[in-house]
Amino acid sequence: MEDCAPKWKEIEQAVKKARASSSPGPNGVPYRVYKSASGVLRILWKLMKVAWEKQVVPRAWRRAGGVFIPKEKDSTSISQFRSISLLNVEGKIFFSIIAQRLSAYLLKNCFIDTSIQKAGIPGFPGCLEHINVIWQQIQSAKKERKELHVTFLDLANAYGSVPHELLWSRISFLIRSTYDVLPSPQNLNLWVGEDPSCPLCSSPATLRHILTGCKVALSQGRFTWRHDQVLRCLALALEDKRNMTNKLPPVPSKHYTQKTTFLRPGEQPPRKGVKTNPRPGQLEAARDWNMLADVGQRLIFPPEIATTNLRPDIVLWSGSARLVHLVELTVPWEDAVDEAYERKKLRYAQLATEAEQRGWRVRVYPVEVGCRGFVAHSTTRFLRDVGFSGQELRRTVKNLSEAAERSSNWLWLRRKDSGWGQVSNEEGALTPGGCYR
Ligand SMILES: [Zn+2]
Repeated sequence: MEDCAPKWKEIEQAVKKARASSSPGPNGVPYRVYKSASGVLRILWKLMKVAWEKQVVPRAWRRAGGVFIPKEKDSTSISQFRSISLLNVEGKIFFSIIAQRLSAYLLKNCFIDTSIQKAGIPGFPGCLEHINVIWQQIQSAKKERKELHVTFLDLANAYGSVPHELLWSRISFLIRSTYDVLPSPQNLNLWVGEDPSCPLCSSPATLRHILTGCKVALSQGRFTWRHDQVLRCLALALEDKRNMTNKLPPVPSKHYTQKTTFLRPGEQPPRKGVKTNPRPGQLEAARDWNMLADVGQRLIFPPEIATTNLRPDIVLWSGSARLVHLVELTVPWEDAVDEAYERKKLRYAQLATEAEQRGWRVRVYPVEVGCRGFVAHSTTRFLRDVGFSGQELRRTVKNLSEAAERSSNWLWLRRKDSGWGQVSNEEGALTPGGCYR
C-alpha cells in the first residue's frame, strides 16, 4: 500500500469529489472554502505532510461533533432523534485519502472479492445481504456458544442515498431489532434506569416480549394481525400460482412417469449433472387446484378431504391428483423458528392420517417467517415444492419478509398505546385479501 505523504493530486481529487453542500464539522469550515481557494488547500496539504511525517493526526481532524437529527415531524423527546457525527472537513479530506489508498490496495491485490464483498467498495451495493449474513452468523454463534466478532458493518452514505422515511422506518428498525438495541423498556432500564416494565402488562419488557411475548398484546389480537398480514401476502402469491397453473394446457398423461431415453447407434447418452429445466413444482401435476386461506373469513375445512375443526392457514388441493397441501404459518421470534415448526407439524398429524385413509396424499407444511423479517428455510422449501423458482421465488420471499418486518415495526411503534382498535387501511392491510376458492 502506498505509504508516502498525501499527494497534491489525491487532495485535489478528494475535495473535488466531496459535495460542496455537505455539513461542516465543529469548526464550521465548509468544503466550499477548499473547493474555491486552492491557495488555502495548499496550506492544508503542507499541514498534512507534516502530520504524516510526525505520524500524529491532529486532534481537530479526529474529533467529531454530534448533531441530533429529528426522525419525525414535531419531534420533542430524545428518542425521536438520531445522532450523527460530523468531522471537520480537514479530517474528512485526510481520512478519505487513506480510505482511497486502502481500497485501491485491497482491490489490486485481490484481497477483496467483489462478488461477495459489497459494502464499502465504490459501485457495489449490498447492505441488506450483509445484515442477513451477519444475522446468520449471530444465530450460529449463539447456538454453538461461540464468540463472534463482527468487524465491519458500514452503511455508507445510507442517510443520504435512500429516502429518509424508508430508511428510518425500515432499515433502522431491522438493524436495531436484529441487534436488540431498540429503546425497549428493558434496554432503557439498562441504559438510563427507566422503568423496565411493559406498558401493557407490566412484565419486564424486552423487545422479544413486545414483538412476540406480551399476553395482553396477544389477547388484543396484535400478533394475529401481523400473522394475517404475512399470510395474506403468502396467499396472494399462491393464488397467482394456482390461477396460472390451472390455465396451463392439460397435464400430459405421462407427466410423472419415468422417461426412457432411447439412443441411436453411436449417440452419446446425456451427461448426468447437466442442468435441465427447473424441477416442476407439485402444482404441475393437475389443473384443478382449489385454495382456501384463513384470511378475512373463517376457513371451513373442505369436508371431502376430512372432517375436522382444525383450521390450517391455507388448504391447497386438487381432486384429480388427490393431493392436498396444508400450510400453517407462524411469525415467531427468530430463535423459536424450529420449535414452531415441530409444534405445527404435530398438530396436523391426525388430520393428515384421516385424509390419507380417504385416499388423499397429504403434505403438511409448517412455514415460518421470523417477526423481524427473516424468512425460514421451511418457507422457501415449501415455495420451491409448489413450483416457485428464480425471480418469482425471490420476489415472494422478499414480500413475505417485508410484510413481517413492516408489521412488527408497526407493533413496535404502537407499543405504548394501551388500545388496539381497527388498524387503518393505510397502515394495516398490505393488499386487499380474502378467502380464495
Ligand atoms: Zn406486556
